[in-house]
Amino acid sequence: MTDPEVVVIGSGPAGACAAITAAQAGARVMIVERAALPRPKVCGCCLSDAGVAGLEAIGARDVLHEAVPIDAVRLATGTREASLPRTGGVALSREALDARLAAHARSYGVFVLERTSARVHADGTVTLASDPAAPLRPACTVVADGLGGASLVDIPGFQWRIEPRSRMGFGAMLPAGAVDCVRGEIRMHVAHAGYVGAVRLEDGSIDVAAAVRPEALRAAGGPAACARAWLGHAVLDPGALDAARWRGTPALTRRRACLAAPRILVTGDAAGYVEPFTGEGMGWAIATGAAAGRLAAAMRSAPDAWRAWPSQHRALVRVQRLRCRAIALTLRSPLLVTGAIACARAAPRALGAAAHAVGRRPSHAPRPAGAAA
Ligand SMILES: Cc1cc2nc3c(=O)[nH]c(=O)nc-3n(C[C@H](O)[C@H](O)[C@H](O)COP(=O)(O)OP(=O)(O)OC[C@H]3O[C@@H](n4cnc5c(N)ncnc54)[C@H](O)[C@@H]3O)c2cc1C
Repeated sequence: MTDPEVVVIGSGPAGACAAITAAQAGARVMIVERAALPRPKVCGCCLSDAGVAGLEAIGARDVLHEAVPIDAVRLATGTREASLPRTGGVALSREALDARLAAHARSYGVFVLERTSARVHADGTVTLASDPAAPLRPACTVVADGLGGASLVDIPGFQWRIEPRSRMGFGAMLPAGAVDCVRGEIRMHVAHAGYVGAVRLEDGSIDVAAAVRPEALRAAGGPAACARAWLGHAVLDPGALDAARWRGTPALTRRRACLAAPRILVTGDAAGYVEPFTGEGMGWAIATGAAAGRLAAAMRSAPDAWRAWPSQHRALVRVQRLRCRAIALTLRSPLLVTGAIACARAAPRALGAAAHAVGRRPSHAPRPAGAAA
């Protein structure tokens, strides 16, 4: 494709959903993805109920086939732990989710160019690393290149504002017997310098993802040692953690100075992120990606429509991000987590209701037939 009307940079949940809705609105769409799909991604792999509703809304529910329904969160610190009920979300590996979303986009005629990195320029043109001499001139570029993306570095005004004491992420996939982790339950262990989560995926393997202060990770001796220490008695095969391929992320809590400009919309993690404690990032990426794709298609005939994006974006994620941040800050103290665990044991309904509220689908989104309320 040499003349796309909409170019999407990045094929994570935000980019794929943007491409799908732009194509549904009739645009000629091209996704440019730096990696070859399926590709690994540091992530807790738990899609919230709101995220599931977001996929249903754009006709992409089928990408979740084989996903594991989540019905509980086991919160632990030291040797204390308690299980809280949580319904509506699912666990699915990012390899499966992202590759299936890209395939779903292709079914709408989207052209997906893999193993190619893209860069946006101030005049709205896009160059591909594979052919820098032939810039693309779309009506809109949707930037969905995640936390580590650098496609906007050439344009002044889009710089990151990174929270000074932000934690970083790390994670790995482990074999089935590595950690005591029941199918359908998220294991979440909180320590002084961060937290680590584990969940069983569709093929039985275990996804481990953590947020940690960088200096604590160094002091622990690296990701495997840190995860072993924090997961404690739940580790069944320490050697599997040592042998795993651990990946890291840049600082997590950050926001973009600017989310839109003529012919440019920024979405998903590329627009900003907060610590992943409540596991809602993919839901936010799906909601903002789908909205950005619709606006990008509209910009073919209304080039000034980009002006609406910052307020649309804020309306979609601001409240949820504030809540996630508040929960993450509260649970920075293992003492408060111990209190929450005691409360969960004494009054399971009260804390269960709070756990249910996280990542719940919007009240206007219909629930699929047969699903729990
Ligand atoms: C430790 C941790 C745990 C988490 N746990 C959860 C969880 O349980 N549930 C949840 O919902 N969320 C979770 N998240 C958050 C979630 O992973 C992200 O919010 C989500 O992946 C954002 O999607 P995205 O599409 O914006 O970006 P990404 O998924 O990061 O996709 C960006 C894509 O852009 C590509 N790219 C980058 N630069 C370029 C370029 N120049 N040109 C072309 N392509 C490029 C990358 O290769 C990548 O494929 C977690 C995050 C962390 C760090």
